[in-house]
Amino acid sequence: MQELTHYIGGAHVKGNSGRFADVMNPATGEVQARVPLANADEMAKAVDIAAKAQPAWAAVNPQRRARVMMAFVGMLHRDMDKLADALSREHGKTLPDAKGDVIRGLEVVEYCIGAPQMLKGDYTDSAGPGIDMYSMKQALGVTAGITPFNFPAMIPMWMFAPAIVCGNAFILKPSERDPSVPLMLAELMEEAGLPKGILQVVNGDKEAVDAILYNDTIQSVGFVGSTPIAEYIYSTGCAQGKRVQCFGGAKNHMIIMPDADMDQAADALVGAGYGAAGERCMAISVAVPVGDDTADRLLEKLVPRVEALKVGPYTSGNDVDYGPVVTAAAKANIERLVQTGIDQGAKLVVDGRNFNLQGYEDGFFVGAHLFDNVTKDMDIYKTEIFGPVLSTIRAQSYEEALGLAMDHEYGNGTAIFTRDGDTARDFANRINIGMVGINVPIPVPLAYHTFGGWKKSMFGDLNQHGPDAFKFYTRTKTITSRWPSGIKEGGEFSIPLME
Ligand code: NAD
Repeated sequence: MQELTHYIGGAHVKGNSGRFADVMNPATGEVQARVPLANADEMAKAVDIAAKAQPAWAAVNPQRRARVMMAFVGMLHRDMDKLADALSREHGKTLPDAKGDVIRGLEVVEYCIGAPQMLKGDYTDSAGPGIDMYSMKQALGVTAGITPFNFPAMIPMWMFAPAIVCGNAFILKPSERDPSVPLMLAELMEEAGLPKGILQVVNGDKEAVDAILYNDTIQSVGFVGSTPIAEYIYSTGCAQGKRVQCFGGAKNHMIIMPDADMDQAADALVGAGYGAAGERCMAISVAVPVGDDTADRLLEKLVPRVEALKVGPYTSGNDVDYGPVVTAAAKANIERLVQTGIDQGAKLVVDGRNFNLQGYEDGFFVGAHLFDNVTKDMDIYKTEIFGPVLSTIRAQSYEEALGLAMDHEYGNGTAIFTRDGDTARDFANRINIGMVGINVPIPVPLAYHTFGGWKKSMFGDLNQHGPDAFKFYTRTKTITSRWPSGIKEGGEFSIPLME
């Protein structure tokens, strides 16, 4: 069986903690590799190497740092098929989805090529007699990121590209479910010209995460994953004096108004609800048709589409709509929640139970499920299921639909489908959710905007990518300077406000 490594100091390094996690092939249910789980000593070694390498990297001018990103983009294109194959083999998602995972990360790397512009400071000439004032954005030092299984290429790149282009060293602790692509990305960054020790991958679980949180040298921690872990990392990291941003779980509502185009709404729900087996933090998991007539018209369109979804292994190419979920435990959890929905009185209008794929009986495949008549108090409504299960909750008015989305504890993404500009505008203004789609079911902002939810979907002040990333990965220093030739005889130090 393949034994994976860490990537420390520019080399693949075997784990020495003696602890490992199995890396599964979700399509077959087989263990295909094992990944070492680092202990605090291994993490400390990586941090030490990062701390030694970082000052020289920060001293490289921003344009040269950006050129590494430029070269890296070329390598991502060159190795796209290899990366997508490795990603699908461990995650289970289809090859087009795996390529999308790489591309949405690559777009942030492209954005980082603009670092020289983003890192420029401000300058005030003659802020006082002979006094100039300027600010600079400096790297933090050693930074770290902890990432989830569901986007093993995109989310690491969203973190390490801005961190590194700002002059930091970065330690990535990827998900132990699909660690191969993060290791490949670290190798590619060095091939692109990054000095050794600036990007390191330390695999692990809670022990490695705690070793990050309690390491005094690490200045900042980024996290993406489930909400309970996000809360833990945010509170622990902040208490240790680190800069922390944590992005958590979601329950994204899509409101369908009576005037919506029902074919478009149904197509959108199928893609956003079931794509990637529902394992996206921006997946739509709740459909909220307004009025019973709207609900009936929507379901008439939706049910046949959901029933027609093709589920299979990524090796089937473009012939499948989605693949298996990530682990046997994830599958069991989804099945348990579906049963809870039935027990609590929701109507299962598309029943994906007992889904069986010939030749892949041990894979973690879950059939598509669609519920109607879901209510607020049900577990399937309150909980993030993270599987191919869409709940329909009928609202009798726009205000009731809006209230549902606003009252839910999560606030990552949402969408409204309508032809009415007033309703769309009102929704965009009033909703307390971070990313909003108007006739767009998965409104993931592009690289030059920022990504982040509200409420229990985000802990921290700054979003991912876009201008916020450059703020998160730098500190501002402001310098006030006066030179002897600028000091008039008998002149006092003064700036205008004090005169
Ligand atoms: P997870 O929380 O189980 O794991 C995320 C990371 O935390 C992994 O690296 C894991 O090793 C680590 N971890 C797990 N348990 C830990 C513990 N007890 N202490 C410290 N670290 C621990 O999440 P996941 O299952 O990998 O990913 C799915 C979740 O991520 C979903 O909730 C999804 O909504 C969320 N997600 C959110 C966003 C967003 O931007 N808001 C994006 C993608 C995924």
